Amino acid sequence: MHTFAYARPATLAEAVALLEEHGPAARVLAGGTDMIIRLRDGTLRPELVIDLKRIPELRPAIRVEGDRLVIGATTVMTDIAASELVRRDFEALAEAAAVVGSVQIRNRATLGGNLCNASPAADTAPSLLVYGADVVAIGPGGTRRLPLDAFFVRSGVTTLAPGELVTAIELPLPTLRRGSVHVRRTRRRGHDLASVTMAVAVDQAGTTRLAYGSVGPRPVVRVDATGVLADAAAPADARTAIFEEMFAGASPSPRSMRASPEYRLAMLRVLGRRALATAIQRLAQGERRP
Ligand SMILES: Cc1cc2nc3c(=O)[nH]c(=O)nc-3n(C[C@H](O)[C@H](O)[C@H](O)COP(=O)(O)OP(=O)(O)OC[C@H]3O[C@@H](n4cnc5c(N)ncnc54)[C@H](O)[C@@H]3O)c2cc1C
Repeated sequence: MHTFAYARPATLAEAVALLEEHGPAARVLAGGTDMIIRLRDGTLRPELVIDLKRIPELRPAIRVEGDRLVIGATTVMTDIAASELVRRDFEALAEAAAVVGSVQIRNRATLGGNLCNASPAADTAPSLLVYGADVVAIGPGGTRRLPLDAFFVRSGVTTLAPGELVTAIELPLPTLRRGSVHVRRTRRRGHDLASVTMAVAVDQAGTTRLAYGSVGPRPVVRVDATGVLADAAAPADARTAIFEEMFAGASPSPRSMRASPEYRLAMLRVLGRRALATAIQRLAQGERRP
């Protein structure tokens, strides 16, 4: 393995200062489930690895602050999947966290790492997109919030500025009743990323939000505010037309070893219909009563 220096800062300010000082030669480490593999295979060769795990301000946490649920960037999938706060109002996120890798991976894999790694197949991304999540980042210029949809660029690339790191993910608490779900297709659960990963949320006002990943360079979110998708009795061709518009953002790579573009595009449609039906059913059952 390539040799690198290791730092375990005791404060957030120290971590930011190290990132600023070393620029692109430094890389932050959270759970390490993505990064250690890349350090080992040499596709990542930082001079300095900055471990975030001993920083008190970044301690894992899931809490309500005003009208938002705040999930600390270092919170692991196991805790997200088990959180009553997440399960009550953000069921698709709990479901997504529960299928990331295996038990061992979920005990290490953080939410911040899943997003910052920016894999198009990141399982938590679609649910966070349909819930309108913001990413909270800190850097030399201070703290800023940006919508998750403005965070992803392409595989491994985000709009984080040099010297910035993610401290938290914020989700607006629902003001309307809604039903939501996460679904995915994978070759081998626990060992492989998704061939298609998707979340759908339908609210009481008839708005449907659908997000999908692993079918292009970055996850995509689309909104249907016409009420057609949310209406189980709407004509089939009207629903198909809206789905097709939503899936126009998919561009799976023909070079992937996981699945052919044809398979992924077919599965996108199958999963879209199934997920929508489940979200509508959950809405009817009252996933959330404000
Ligand atoms: C066997 C296996 C199975 C897997 N299965 C799945 C799966 O089913 N679904 C899925 O989505 N993923 C899966 N993964 C990928 C991985 O587990 C997740 O992406 C995980 O959430 C990454 O989090 P981490 O804390 O381990 O990140 P790390 O490996 O520590 O970091 C990943 C990247 O993000 C950066 N980073 C981390 N935290 C921050 C931060 N706070 N601010 C700025 N940058 C940061 C790091 O510098 C690095 O570039 C799997 C991995 C393995 C090894």
